[in-house]
Amino acid sequence: MPSIYKSGAFIQQCFAVHPRCLDFKSVHLPDRLVMTCTSCKMHHHLALRSIAARSSALADSPDVSVEPAARAAADLLAECLAAHGTSVTIRAMDVIQDVIGLRCRDCRRLFDLDITAFESHQL
Ligand SMILES: [Zn+2]
Ligand SMILES: [Zn+2]
Repeated sequence: MPSIYKSGAFIQQCFAVHPRCLDFKSVHLPDRLVMTCTSCKMHHHLALRSIAARSSALADSPDVSVEPAARAAADLLAECLAAHGTSVTIRAMDVIQDVIGLRCRDCRRLFDLDITAFESHQL
């Protein structure tokens, strides 16, 4: 049986120490994302409460709605991961606030993921 840790501490550690080792393993939007760390040999399961998307070009504009339809944001992220997943990287992580920020380099789009549960599985 693999060990399971119900904590965000492990993915936080991966992001801090070797962020390039984190890859998207499986995507079940809008509810769930699984990332794999090639360095720690861990799978990090993220349960999602909501996803917000915005254009990074307009990120500073006060006109940008901060509350786009969650469904649309999940679709956008799913499209990015399917079309050019290697361009999607983690830009921020705060496991105390339960927030993970992603960036798509190709679309210049930012995603904010609101996480309800972190779980890390040692392989
Ligand atoms: Zn790691
Ligand atoms: Zn994209």
